[in-house]
Amino acid sequence: MCGIIAGVSAEEIAPTLIEGLKRVEYRGYDSAGVATIHDGVIELRKDVGRVGDLERLQKVSEMQGEVGMAHTRWATHGGVTKENAHPHVSCHGEVAVIHNGIIENYLELKQRLAKKGHVFTSETDTEVIAHLLEEAYGQSKDPLEATLKAIKPLVGQYALVVMFRDHPGTLVGARNDAPLIIGVGKKELFLASDVLAFISRTDLAVFLENKEVAELTHRGYKVFNTRGAEVKKKVIQLAWELSDVSKLDYAHYTLKEIHEQPETVARAMVQRPESLAAFAEAIRDAGSVILTASGSSYHAALLLRSRLSKDAKIRCDAVLAGEFDEHEHFVDKDTVMVVFSQSGETADLLNAVKAGRRSGAKVLAVVNAAGSSLARESDGVLLLNCGPEVGVAATKSFTSQVMVGNLIADAVVGRDTVGDARKVAAQVSQALESEKAIRKVAEELSGRTDFYFIARGSRYAVAQEGALKLKELAYVHAEGMPASELKHGTLALIEKGTPVVVIAHSRDGFSNTISNAMELQARGAEIIGISDKEDPVFKHFIRVPQAADSVVPILEVIPLQLLAYFMATELKNDPDYPRNLAKSVTVR
Ligand code: GLU
Repeated sequence: MCGIIAGVSAEEIAPTLIEGLKRVEYRGYDSAGVATIHDGVIELRKDVGRVGDLERLQKVSEMQGEVGMAHTRWATHGGVTKENAHPHVSCHGEVAVIHNGIIENYLELKQRLAKKGHVFTSETDTEVIAHLLEEAYGQSKDPLEATLKAIKPLVGQYALVVMFRDHPGTLVGARNDAPLIIGVGKKELFLASDVLAFISRTDLAVFLENKEVAELTHRGYKVFNTRGAEVKKKVIQLAWELSDVSKLDYAHYTLKEIHEQPETVARAMVQRPESLAAFAEAIRDAGSVILTASGSSYHAALLLRSRLSKDAKIRCDAVLAGEFDEHEHFVDKDTVMVVFSQSGETADLLNAVKAGRRSGAKVLAVVNAAGSSLARESDGVLLLNCGPEVGVAATKSFTSQVMVGNLIADAVVGRDTVGDARKVAAQVSQALESEKAIRKVAEELSGRTDFYFIARGSRYAVAQEGALKLKELAYVHAEGMPASELKHGTLALIEKGTPVVVIAHSRDGFSNTISNAMELQARGAEIIGISDKEDPVFKHFIRVPQAADSVVPILEVIPLQLLAYFMATELKNDPDYPRNLAKSVTVR
């Protein structure tokens, strides 16, 4: 799930590992650990909490050794404790392993290993790998052979890296349904779950495929299939923008990324016409169209569904990736799946793609990470090109997804409804000018515990996205719902001072939405209006700039992102690393 960085170098490796871990901190984690090999022993330092604390309290940068591994854990099996933090070592300290993912059959393996006398010191699923490795290594004394043997019985998802005490110059990595990438430096090699972990050292990468195993030594790297036969791999040059990960003068990455949107939305509009035409043709010719995604990406998919249905008269479903099983029976070789994701590594999504493929569907991806599993497994790809998104809560990736969705819908109907990128960028900048006003609203409303977001029609997706941001960043209960639904139940929850964010546009059911706002106000609700048109019912008013219909949702969501951000800072939450959340959810 979280971060892996390991390396073989000609210099002391610990400082590089710590730097790499810090670069993947954004993915969210609860504990961290580092192991290096030095003087014939594997040295281990790990604990719950932040990488910076581990570094300071356990002096990790001073660890000696040119080969080492580091991990940030997002607990799936076993509590957040020091013992459960990675790396995990085998009984005799011969092998250390770090792992992202879930070993589904770990209980069965654990029982089998315990019967053979293996003593477990953690509650994790991961620890079985260390003991399996020890068993296998005992027989062959060869790191590669031992790893190939140890991964055989594993069922589940893994990206793992292994270190062997008696082979101090070797690292072995393996992947199945979780990303693992080799970084190829001049005098150093890396294995990481995210290219950002090594991008400051090298921009050359080799992406491992499922069931591939890599061996790194001071002499170089080799990649093998599960039978141990060598596989020739392509070295990919990574985009230089990836190294451009800094907060600049912003207090948080999240705020910086919100402010990048004039540029990122405009950049999303630059797509190859052939790629867009291919998407449009596939959608037009499809027997059925299914849009699938999770979290914020799902809200972008809802907006595309609405455009395809209203503008192109194409009936399609938007399905949550984690619920795809419920729809699988509709999928056949005439189905086109359009899949939205930032990371392209979301486990639920990759699973939905696999299921779709099994039934013969064509898979088209709208994704930010160009080298991701999703991008590599799809028949067609449109890239968001919004640069690395470090804040755990999606902001710029969401608005880019909405924009790419617009381009797809425009291509399907054969007309340009969005217009010129510079004009759109200016409108987004104008929407950001609401920052001061939003900050005041956040100051006034911080402390309220329940928020509602209402809107009509396609804007329901915007209401849901606003509620999701508030939950993620401010840890405040929030619900997004169609304005028409209120009277069917939720109105019972409204009392004096309940904040309700009303998203209403003068060209789209304005008067009906305002009537709903009045019903709320009559019951004591405090209305925050997000609109292009002022109305007396709004206690607070945030003006949305004039723009084409399809651009309006982007402009409406920006004040909602800012609201969530400022509510979080008011409540002293760290908006970049919301508790319990991880950036790319690579477990199911
Ligand atoms: N399942 C493992 C654990 O709970 C790994 C979690 C992760 O990917 O960080 O320790």
